[in-house]
Amino acid sequence: MEESIKTVMVVSPHPDDAEIGAGGTIALWCKQGREVFYVICTNGDKGSSDPNMTSETLAKIRQQEQIEASKILGVSNVTFLGYPDGGLEDTPAFRGELVRLIRKHRPEVVLTTDPYRKYLWHRDHRITGIVTMDAIFPYARDHLSYPEQIVEGLKPHKVKEIYFWGSEESDTFIDVEETFTVKLSALSCHVSQVGQYGDLLKQHIEERASKAGQSQGVPLAEAFRRIEIIY
Ligand SMILES: [Zn+2]
Repeated sequence: MEESIKTVMVVSPHPDDAEIGAGGTIALWCKQGREVFYVICTNGDKGSSDPNMTSETLAKIRQQEQIEASKILGVSNVTFLGYPDGGLEDTPAFRGELVRLIRKHRPEVVLTTDPYRKYLWHRDHRITGIVTMDAIFPYARDHLSYPEQIVEGLKPHKVKEIYFWGSEESDTFIDVEETFTVKLSALSCHVSQVGQYGDLLKQHIEERASKAGQSQGVPLAEAFRRIEIIY
């Protein structure tokens, strides 16, 4: 990653997705002094198999878990958009919220989930990836898109790169050996989620990192599909 990259925006469909997909990379970039900020699209209020859990309680628990996890990684700021879990749609309003955050924080790089996985893929993940991509290009760039934001004083912004985690066509691998334990600690903050899967999730994540590392000759890596945007 270029030295000139100072600010990174992470757009996560649910609390915990960013830690699972890119926690080692996020911790590494924070450690290198880059400013990383989070946008959590949904409140994760369906993610429980406990019959006594309510969506209202779960949303509160998961927000707190996400705040704790972000602190461990070194993330500077978390914005919760608060859409219901499973209720995300590709709307002008949702896109406009992401455009606003891009224009406000002016990231050079955006990290989000790959929308183009075939077959089984959570609808919120698909929609988050697509809407984030649209918000970056062309909407955040063009002053005539969401012009009310420009009137308020925000300026158009050109994001340079998108990194997609969870891609079936990864082409970029980040060595996360030095921050892998930080990733696991951050992940363990999501007690309401990790508790359901026990060691299986941790095992799966370790196996995936080790497999991604093999292709690069390092013990542990995270895999991404990287898109460079030429304006
Ligand atoms: Zn998710």
